[in-house]
Amino acid sequence: MKKDEARIVPEVHFSFNDHPFRKPSFVLYFCGCPHKCKGCHSQELQNPYSDLCETITVSKLKGVLKYYFDSYNGKINSVVLLGGDPVVYTDFLIKLFSELRKEVKNIEVVLYTGYLFEELKEELKNLVDIIVDGKYREDLKTGKFPASSNQRVFIKENSEWKDKTYLFLG
Ligand code: SF4
Repeated sequence: MKKDEARIVPEVHFSFNDHPFRKPSFVLYFCGCPHKCKGCHSQELQNPYSDLCETITVSKLKGVLKYYFDSYNGKINSVVLLGGDPVVYTDFLIKLFSELRKEVKNIEVVLYTGYLFEELKEELKNLVDIIVDGKYREDLKTGKFPASSNQRVFIKENSEWKDKTYLFLG
């Protein structure tokens, strides 16, 4: 796979439920995940070559997202990246969001990943606003958000990352 390509489910979904604060968001599903968590919520997307998925380039996806953001004229400004694990396509995401942020102002990017926050490239973290990290652990299942108690929610505030998992406990 080239650095400016990724495998995704080729539709932009719309949802309130995937944003940690239930904000209306555009949702993208990336295909491929190395973590193989027991009880995974989207096993069909662990395989990057699933029939559900297509290859897309940075420039094509940037155009699609710009169209959606422009169409809603700032009323929806969040995009949620799910999978699979979007971090498999780190170079793609860096290129996509560094270019998109120049063309669409004030967007918010929410990233779900099975990797740990500490493992992510700084260049990627600089381009996103909220990160939900960690593999899904069935033995630590919460039945709410985050799905297992090892997972953490990091939020960028004034350019500084804060672990805000406590907001969702209890
Ligand atoms: S990280 Fe997410 S998508 Fe990947 S195997 Fe675990 S639950 Fe499934």
